[in-house]
Amino acid sequence: MPSISIPTALRQYAGNLDSIAVEGNTIGEALASLTGQFPDLKKHLYDGAGQLRSFVNIYVNDEDIRYQRQNDTPISDADDISIIPSIAGGVVTEDEIKTAALPDLSNEEVARYSRHLIMPEVGMEGQRRLKAASILLIGAGGLGSPLGLYLAAAGVGRLGIVDFDVVDESNLQRQIVHGTKDVGRPKLQSAKDRLSDINPHIQIDGYETALRSENALGIVRDYDIIIDGTDNFQTRYLANDASVLLGKPNVYGSIFRFDGQASVFYPKAGGPCYRCLYPEPPPPGLVPSCAEGGVLGILPGIIGVIQATEAIKLIIGQGEPLVGRLLLFDALKMKFRELKLRRNPDCPLCGDNPTIRELIDYDQFCGITPTKPQTEEKPGMRELTVTELKERLDRGDKLTIIDVREPHEWQIANLENYGAKLIPLGQVAQRLNEIDPGDEIVMQCKMGGRSAKACQVLDQAGYKNVWNLKGGITAWADQIDRSMPKY
Ligand SMILES: [Zn+2]
Repeated sequence: MPSISIPTALRQYAGNLDSIAVEGNTIGEALASLTGQFPDLKKHLYDGAGQLRSFVNIYVNDEDIRYQRQNDTPISDADDISIIPSIAGGVVTEDEIKTAALPDLSNEEVARYSRHLIMPEVGMEGQRRLKAASILLIGAGGLGSPLGLYLAAAGVGRLGIVDFDVVDESNLQRQIVHGTKDVGRPKLQSAKDRLSDINPHIQIDGYETALRSENALGIVRDYDIIIDGTDNFQTRYLANDASVLLGKPNVYGSIFRFDGQASVFYPKAGGPCYRCLYPEPPPPGLVPSCAEGGVLGILPGIIGVIQATEAIKLIIGQGEPLVGRLLLFDALKMKFRELKLRRNPDCPLCGDNPTIRELIDYDQFCGITPTKPQTEEKPGMRELTVTELKERLDRGDKLTIIDVREPHEWQIANLENYGAKLIPLGQVAQRLNEIDPGDEIVMQCKMGGRSAKACQVLDQAGYKNVWNLKGGITAWADQIDRSMPKY
């Protein structure tokens, strides 16, 4: 029987399996067999009209079924079938590198870069190209850290960094450009200090702002190469669109738990863009972010260094870039795979008849309404603050607290002392028999997002007396019990 590889983000809907044996002679039959075994997967793979969702790609071996016979694509037992969802990470032509105006290297620089200079693939010309080059890093976080460190060390003449965040303790597990002494400092300042220490010969320009439709073209225009180190879909589509509109290569990387992806989007060199791969973002909340789902600290190191390698190859004009190829990395299996990517002639951005000619509203495109949190829009959603909850518990009110996080999160911190019961969000619908509709119920998670979804499940099941705990256990740790660990 053929089997289908399930990506990490969807395994929770597939019995936590990474590969599932299916029946069928075509992709359509195999997917029907898969969703027959795991009905929860269906709504994640298909839209209401029964069409495969646009942020889900199906590959047979290294080919996208969209470019084969779609659902009728034949399969055999020997084929590798994979579901590749989007995961909330050519060569530069001569005129772009301005060969004529390549700067000279000082004696100090010659000494510093000697291990580059003695390789014929780099040599003096390659190193001078690196010195002449400019790279924009979007984000000084998990991917931005190894990117910044290695690109600075390699002697890329000008690095731009866009970041407006502050170093938090929970960043240090992977964001290795920052140190413990930097907690509380702007990431931009911390990164600048570290990178100038590694290489005082380079220029570092900081942009302490979020990349937005209003400022993106102005910032991106100034650089030869854009490197996408973002952790959200709005900035990812914005970085893609700005790079394509300005004809710049966009070195892409993304990470989630143990899985990573990397590619180079460069339609000018004949390759696809991010929109060719994923025409639309997943709806908010469907694909968990690293803040919700976690990430192995080493993973951004691996993917970031791959991105840095691609950027350097583009600048020195050596090797085969990842244009038209999507590299997949699975740290648990320690396996790399490669999929072919094609430019979509119907792509609204880089296709033959583009309809996107300027930057759009990316919050709207990604279904985000920043001013109003989702929970406030849901009619009937009642919220309780942690202070109110504590007061009522102290008064002796009988409240049933349902914690909808995962067991490993419960182990870090929980409200068991107040009778909290653990039912992970994905199991709430099946375990309603454990929640008494006669009780007054408080749903709780880490920050209040998942518990809001759980409230909707209860609402639909007819429960009347349900509260959502605003800010979740994080707010409890901040405001009620400062001795509680935060994560
Ligand atoms: Zn495209």
